[in-house]
Amino acid sequence: MQKTIFALATGNELSALSVIRVSGKESQMVLEKLTLKSAPTERLLTLRNFYFPDSKKKLIDICLVVWMPGPRSYTGEDCVEIYTHGGDAVFKSFFSALTSLPNVRYADHGEFSKRAIINGKTDLVKAEAVNDLINAHTEKQRGLAIGQFNRGLSIPIKKWRKGILKCMSLIEANIDFSDESDTPENLNIKNDLLGLRADFKEALKNKDYYELVNKGIKVVFKGKPNAGKSSIFNSIIKKQRAIVSNTPGTTRDIIEGQINFKGHAITFYDTAGITITDNSIEKEGIKRTRKLLKEADIILNITEDGKFLSQSHNKKEWLVLNKIDNNKNLKKKFKGNAILVSAKTGEGIEDILEKIYIEIIKKTKKFEGSKNIVLNLRQATELEEAEQNIAKALEEKSEEIISEHLRQANRSLERIIGNIDVEDVLGNIFSNFCIGK
Ligand code: GDP
Repeated sequence: MQKTIFALATGNELSALSVIRVSGKESQMVLEKLTLKSAPTERLLTLRNFYFPDSKKKLIDICLVVWMPGPRSYTGEDCVEIYTHGGDAVFKSFFSALTSLPNVRYADHGEFSKRAIINGKTDLVKAEAVNDLINAHTEKQRGLAIGQFNRGLSIPIKKWRKGILKCMSLIEANIDFSDESDTPENLNIKNDLLGLRADFKEALKNKDYYELVNKGIKVVFKGKPNAGKSSIFNSIIKKQRAIVSNTPGTTRDIIEGQINFKGHAITFYDTAGITITDNSIEKEGIKRTRKLLKEADIILNITEDGKFLSQSHNKKEWLVLNKIDNNKNLKKKFKGNAILVSAKTGEGIEDILEKIYIEIIKKTKKFEGSKNIVLNLRQATELEEAEQNIAKALEEKSEEIISEHLRQANRSLERIIGNIDVEDVLGNIFSNFCIGK
């Protein structure tokens, strides 16, 4: 028998209230065992005393509770939400009370959403969108997530699946009297397939947008040791996350920090200084830096002495002269040719951010207004596969093989919305969801 699950749906910091969610067949039993009363009227907030089970009325807390019998609940199962007082000890008591009951256990990551998908209450695109919404730090991330939840990818997927199924049924209905081969043209599905392929390609144009909004634009520092990369990084991140030191080559690993600038995420990477060295740890750091530089959206080529490292050819790379508090002559010399900053006084740091911001606006503009279809990496990979199967179907001359490609394309779309062997595939995806979702 499937166990009834419970979890803390709110954060576990000190707070006035916490919400405990319960879902599964035993929800009503849980409620009655803990309140020593029958379940209250459904969907009506009701005040109840909660006791430790079988304890002669040893009180845990006095809480509002709502009883939501399935299927009219988030998971589609019988559900209870208890609005307890916040704090550690209250939840610990509920935890021990709930786990002492038969067939009740603490939920896994994303298990409520998983059950909601299995019971047809939501789809995977929406569940992922809710997870993104919970994790959103910037206004852009929030907007993207709620858009995806509200009218996102699930809608075109529905339309596309209908299109594929229509083609499949046309093939099925085709009774071939002629000597012609079964090309998509002869099967009367060519235009439909071309249309689907064009739609998929159009949607895939946006595939970098999700990463851009959620991961942020990638800004990678490059420069010789001691140029002041870590100091600039710290000045931007405004927390002492990198070790700032006088010894050249101290930052051997890559340090990553994300900020929210005017509602957009920017991720900065402080890297190992590039220099000639025999030290193997330093060499490894430089190797990692070079790899990261290839993935950068923007490179900041930082120097303290005006001798910049050679610039990459196919990258957006800006020259940054640091320590201008110390060197007035260099400051004069590079005015207009480099961004002039002082990590020490903070002068010029805002200029870097503003310049990056202009770049973000340019990059995001390209994607905006494109029918609101946005794909995360997982969804894009599936859609790419669907697109390739449609492309192959268009080339084929055999009814069976065309049908098979269409079936595969349809499977990819089904996987996007989670219409799949749930236990196998979903487990992986939900492992990074929070527990109470
Ligand atoms: P990195 O090796 O490029 O990461 O350089 P660090 O950030 O570790 O800086 C090297 C040294 O330069 C440290 O002693 C910093 O305090 C100093 N430094 C960094 N930025 C500035 C600056 O703008 N002005 C001055 N005067 N010193 C700086």
